[in-house]
Amino acid sequence: MKGSMLSIGECMVELMQAEGGMLRKGYAGDTFNTAYYARLFLPADWTVDYFTAVGTDVVSDEMLAFMEDTGVRTARIRRLEGLMPGLYMIHLKDGERSFSYWRSTSAAKRLADDPDRLRSAIEAADVVFFSGITLAILAPDAVETLLSEMRRAKAGGKRVAFDPNIRPRLWDDAARMRATIEAGARAATMVLPSYDDEAAHFGDASVGATIERYRALGAEDVAVKDGANGVTLEFGKEARLHVPAAPVSRIVDTTSAGDSFNGSFLARLAAGDRPADAAAFAARVAAAVIGHHGALVERKKLPADSMM
Ligand code: ADP
Repeated sequence: MKGSMLSIGECMVELMQAEGGMLRKGYAGDTFNTAYYARLFLPADWTVDYFTAVGTDVVSDEMLAFMEDTGVRTARIRRLEGLMPGLYMIHLKDGERSFSYWRSTSAAKRLADDPDRLRSAIEAADVVFFSGITLAILAPDAVETLLSEMRRAKAGGKRVAFDPNIRPRLWDDAARMRATIEAGARAATMVLPSYDDEAAHFGDASVGATIERYRALGAEDVAVKDGANGVTLEFGKEARLHVPAAPVSRIVDTTSAGDSFNGSFLARLAAGDRPADAAAFAARVAAAVIGHHGALVERKKLPADSMM
């Protein structure tokens, strides 16, 4: 059952307040977080590659070394002289988090500028993942390059998974944002939206409305995440079903709840789980992630996978 997954997007340097005015450095980004959780829960004979663009500087070297340490492969990543990864800082004030970003000139914005490299990475994969954030950072012609490769992958029978991950701050125009997210969904076989974002930006009145909208755009499989209300799935010709969230004793940090769900869900589907079982496992992983600090929670703090 060996196979390979490819996740495409932007990973940034993360600076977080630590003791005594120090800053702690990490690396995160929705599509990388998803790759990280997929790697944790995929069978050992699967590979996970990350696709992005970084620089040739020390910061980029360190980022790639970090990725390799997590087991996510970096050989497909573009290296661009003179550019650097984006960076963000997490501010903590009275328990509330806010973020500052330095990403407008990040190397990742060029990830689709070498279409042959992009195509060969996608051709080598069985499962491809990208998000609305991947699309948001690209120039319109680069969006078209990426989406045409996704449509080609879908037509070729690959699983193409898309999380709309709607972030209005990354888009200069709300109409273009919605049209591009819809184009992303059309290019995908599976859409993994979060209901609160979809309700806010597409006006969906219910989780069912989100499912119907994305199915009408051509996604065969839809799993709508709805925080503590759980996940609703409609896969292929199977009946719609609801999978409850797993209990969280104390919410510590909700960062990466959706990403950890996506990664572990895709991993268990790839391993052959039925969608309901994969979603129940992913809900347990996401619940554990919410109970700990940071986007990338260590394996030993997460549920063991009894199926492997
Ligand atoms: P996102 O982080 O993308 O906004 P959600 O908030 O919908 O996504 O959360 C993703 C998943 O994380 C949910 O489907 C659920 O399994 C889990 N989750 C989120 N919030 C909670 C919560 N308060 N209690 C239990 N599980 C949660």
